[in-house]
Amino acid sequence: MPIKISCQFDAGAIEVVSADNANAIDLNIRKDSHADIVQWFYFRLQGAQGEPCTIRFLNAGQAAYPKGWEGYQAMASYDRLNWFRVPTSFDGQVMTINHTPGMDSVYYAYFEPYSWERHLELLDRAQMSEHVRLFDLGSTVDGRDMNMLVIGEEHANRKKVWVIARQHPGETMAEWFVEGMLDALLDPANPFGRQLLKEAVFYVVPNMNPDGSVRGNLRTNAAGANLNREWNSPSMERSPEVYLVREKMKETGCDLFLDVHGDEGLPYVFTAGSGALPAFTPEMAAREKKFQKDFMIATPDFQDVHGYPDAPYTDEVLTMGSPHITHLFGCLSLTLELPFKDNANDPDPQTGWDGARSARLGGAVLQPVLQALRG
Ligand code: ZN
Repeated sequence: MPIKISCQFDAGAIEVVSADNANAIDLNIRKDSHADIVQWFYFRLQGAQGEPCTIRFLNAGQAAYPKGWEGYQAMASYDRLNWFRVPTSFDGQVMTINHTPGMDSVYYAYFEPYSWERHLELLDRAQMSEHVRLFDLGSTVDGRDMNMLVIGEEHANRKKVWVIARQHPGETMAEWFVEGMLDALLDPANPFGRQLLKEAVFYVVPNMNPDGSVRGNLRTNAAGANLNREWNSPSMERSPEVYLVREKMKETGCDLFLDVHGDEGLPYVFTAGSGALPAFTPEMAAREKKFQKDFMIATPDFQDVHGYPDAPYTDEVLTMGSPHITHLFGCLSLTLELPFKDNANDPDPQTGWDGARSARLGGAVLQPVLQALRG
């Protein structure tokens, strides 16, 4: 049986240069559909059971984040349910996977995918709860539904918590996080969920970039926009996803905002705040610090040692989701970053950081959120 490589499925993305022999499979990582961003890959290999495969990504050195390949191990799965890491190396230009598939069909991906079907199932399951209403905010560039879950009663005296994920669609760990958060919040036996449903209302957008997710993009939507640079002047033509959510936020108000992402380089979970804003106050800084401390109490997977360095204020700052929301509402507003690689403080060589780990982190976030709302 000849070997075959394909990617015509949800979030599939790769370009085949040469795939005649299992020991010399040459690929290029495909660009985002409408932008020069090279990073996300997801493909299927058939016909190589028992054969030692050498899979080379020839353009890895031209990726958006070449440092993302340093110390990185690619993910693989036979059933798309159980994902594991496979030996991967990077020489500065070419990234190479060496793996002998144990089955006739194997999938390889940059990170454990979160499928569009699973996204729809997540919405379906959530709306079955008595605490949840499912809202349609409008449509994406490609015409997909922009859905938002409202969890808890919308009272004027309730704190408003906004959580959005996957502005960058290839950062699938962000939606795994939301799934875990929702499961905890809606679990009648979870004490933090119970308290939060009495004190707060949650506005949750599990997938901010449906088109990019299905198209297999890392960072952009179907108009080529990086949504996390659109918050200052979103438009229905270029960035309806941000436009629709920002309009809704202006309507509801916001007391706490979390924007969930994945980071290609750093093997840690961390937050980035709004410290670059000129109007950033010591009180805002103290709120960020308290949230970090409380999150560390809730889960050992969170840490505050490694993160982005402080950067000076530029015009770009207000185009980004979390500083923009601090600017609009003066509230605690954080970008939460989960790793593509692993948590170096507690690594797992079999799976690395994965969907399950992301979901547990999502469950753990309820504790610091509750503490933050109580001040
Ligand atoms: Zn991101």
